Amino acid sequence: MTVSVSQLIDWMTRFDVLVEEHRTELTDLDSAIGDGDHGTNMARGWNAVVEKLNSEKPEYADDFGKLVGMTLISSVGGASGPLFGTFFLRLGSTAGHEQKVAVEHFAHALEAGLDGVIERGKAELADKTMVDALEPAVRAFRTGLAVGDLAYAARLASEAAQAGRDATRDELAHKGRASYLGERSLGHIDPGAASTALLFQALAEALA
Ligand code: ADP
Ligand code: MG
Repeated sequence: MTVSVSQLIDWMTRFDVLVEEHRTELTDLDSAIGDGDHGTNMARGWNAVVEKLNSEKPEYADDFGKLVGMTLISSVGGASGPLFGTFFLRLGSTAGHEQKVAVEHFAHALEAGLDGVIERGKAELADKTMVDALEPAVRAFRTGLAVGDLAYAARLASEAAQAGRDATRDELAHKGRASYLGERSLGHIDPGAASTALLFQALAEALA
């Protein structure tokens, strides 16, 4: 079982479509507890990513990760750009110079990406950030691989990300703009957790 670079590219293309479909929703979530730019930030970032992937057509996982990560860091103004950027830089460098990444190694690359996001943003679980969707998703992917195939692992990860996203509704924000709201951040889903759930939905579609 492997994950190919064309599947990784398909993942990004599918995510770009989902981001466009949910752009208004992501912006509305950010309007409630942030500055209302998350949908725009994500769309700008992934439109640029897909454009770059189409023109440069990376063949190796490390080149894929570098292209996606650097494009996000340079094209997204908000906090989410460098965080997602770090996720893909780490994912790619860990996956390595491979055209097909063994699934166990891909699970490790996802874990490295998560570690990068945590190191960079210093958010812990239940701080009401993207980490609340990302961490359970990455863990569920590993669990899924232990008992099933790649498609099952990706589906389990997607479900875990959705559950993590939903849990942010009842959490108090401790990081990012929403943390300035204190108690008023309660009752709203975190926009970055919502986009992370879409990211894993796209992964499940690409690896189905
Ligand atoms: P900005 O907050 O700069 O406007 P975005 O609106 O694009 O950027 O992204 C906001 C999202 O970024 C939040 O919903 C949250 O999930 C995520 N985020 C912000 N700060 C952190 C952090 N320190 N660690 C992890 N995620 C964070
Ligand atoms: Mg914002």
